[in-house]
Amino acid sequence: MDPGSKVDGGLIVVSAPSGSGKTTIARAILSRFPEMEFSVSATTRPKRSSETDGKDYLFLGREEFERRIGAGEFVEWEEIYGEYYGTLKREVDRARAARRRLLFDVDVKGALSIQRCYPQALLIFIRPPSLEILMQRLRDRKTEAPETLRRRMERVPLELELGSQFDHQVVNDVLDRAVQEVEEIVRTYIHQS
Ligand code: ADP
Ligand code: 5GP
Repeated sequence: MDPGSKVDGGLIVVSAPSGSGKTTIARAILSRFPEMEFSVSATTRPKRSSETDGKDYLFLGREEFERRIGAGEFVEWEEIYGEYYGTLKREVDRARAARRRLLFDVDVKGALSIQRCYPQALLIFIRPPSLEILMQRLRDRKTEAPETLRRRMERVPLELELGSQFDHQVVNDVLDRAVQEVEEIVRTYIHQS
């Protein structure tokens, strides 16, 4: 589907290699669109000190996550860096019932799955300016041990390849400029309804 012809399905998906700035950009976008909500995913990865359970993620044990997979509670789920991550159906249902737009922060495969379920979802891929800068941002964030940092970097080539299938790609070099670009893409989508 031509991204320019996408009518507003109320679903905006942002993906990027880990450390590219997707969470930073997603927060800035949410603050500019008060009618938009963040889709709180479930995950089995440990909570970071900056995160709140139920707000940033729903943090679950592996057994509970697997039970919910079996119960059909996910729109999509993936195992990434050895941990489960998944989009809950109830998040999408709740937002749609309340006629609120939903912003997803999911990996590239999850984004393409969401688009298969909801063809009107808008997919935006955030690219780092270079692999060196990506590595530096991840290191500076100080959330990853050397082993998980290595795992995150290993996945980058796959992510960059799948990112080329997205509706839009934005390079996050200067943050304000990237946020502005994403904001314009979202405004165009919203006004196409
Ligand atoms: P992601 O959600 O893609 O893993 P984050 O949003 O956590 O990435 O960003 C990774 C790190 O890079 C954070 O410390 C963030 O403050 C920083 N960052 C994000 N965008 C930029 C930018 N344009 N320039 C410099 N640092 C940035
Ligand atoms: P992090 O551990 O850095 O928060 O996230 C790691 C990766 O998992 C990121 O690419 C993030 O977008 C992705 N992710 C977060 N939630 C989901 C989800 O519900 N589904 C999928 N497929 N990926 C997710």
